[in-house]
Amino acid sequence: QKKLLEIKDLTIKFHTDDGVVEAVNKVSLTVHEGETLGIVGETGAGKTTTALGIMGLVDCPPGRIEGGKIMLNDQDILQLDEDEFRKLRGKEISMIFQDPMTALNPVFTVVDQIAEVIANHQQLGEKEAEQKAIEMLELVRIPAERAYEYPHQFSGGMKQRVVIAIALACNPRLLIADEPTTALDVTIQAQVLELMKDLKTRSKTSMMLITHDLGVVSEICDQVAIMYAGEIVESGSLEDIFENPLHPYTNGLFGSIPDIDKEVEFLSPIEGLVPDPSDLPKGCKFHPRCKYAQHLCSVEEPAFQEYSPGHYAKCFVYEGKLPAKEVKKYE
Ligand code: SF4
Repeated sequence: QKKLLEIKDLTIKFHTDDGVVEAVNKVSLTVHEGETLGIVGETGAGKTTTALGIMGLVDCPPGRIEGGKIMLNDQDILQLDEDEFRKLRGKEISMIFQDPMTALNPVFTVVDQIAEVIANHQQLGEKEAEQKAIEMLELVRIPAERAYEYPHQFSGGMKQRVVIAIALACNPRLLIADEPTTALDVTIQAQVLELMKDLKTRSKTSMMLITHDLGVVSEICDQVAIMYAGEIVESGSLEDIFENPLHPYTNGLFGSIPDIDKEVEFLSPIEGLVPDPSDLPKGCKFHPRCKYAQHLCSVEEPAFQEYSPGHYAKCFVYEGKLPAKEVKKYE
């Protein structure tokens, strides 16, 4: 498969009055054509900042991209000026956010909002753009007769479907979805997820799905990257991550979700909190919360290494630098 997006060593910092926040540290990721990559982690792990970096929406004070490359189809998009980036957004890369209301304008009908995006990016007349907008609404299963309604007349799930229609209106090569189902109630979440799965099979759009929910990942992703404190700590295929998770943090994430096939009396959330990004621990950033941590983990940083084809992790246990100990699966 051809690489669509390749991020290499992306580093993003925020220079605030309270100090430097290291939001994203040397993150490397690849999304192949037609593939869905899930980025998983707790709040504050740097997932959204990574996505905003790809969208060209972070590089202004106090945020700064301090290193790395973002290659889209072999072009380093960090070299583009603001005008060129604006053209890229919507046409090549689109993003949908957690709260659909932030993306919708309450004073315009939904068809007008989609048609505007289409008209801005494609050389289409008003009528044609409107017709295409109605087709997009139908694609996300909103009947044409509701096209001339306003956002407040729609339920939460329908609003998110409108947002997806806007994001897909110009056939982007990459769709970034940031917790697209989190603000919705459970049944509606399932419907939106179903819709995204359907779009994935029908369109050629590649997706980057940001979530804290491993259930969502298992439904839709081909590849998975686990983020902790601004870094990728493990990445691999869906199967690698679900069948053979390596990093203690990944195993902790699995341990903190209910398994409907097992009788679990209580969940075991990972103890401790995500570290303050302006005061990150030395060595392995997970060491204050890790059951397997040894002195070495607090002074040296493990390497991000490949342990089987395409399956990477960042932990001394696998480098053989700690006394042989097996990380328990789904701890
Ligand atoms: Fe835990 Fe050490 Fe591995 Fe970090 S390097 S995850 S602290 S065992």
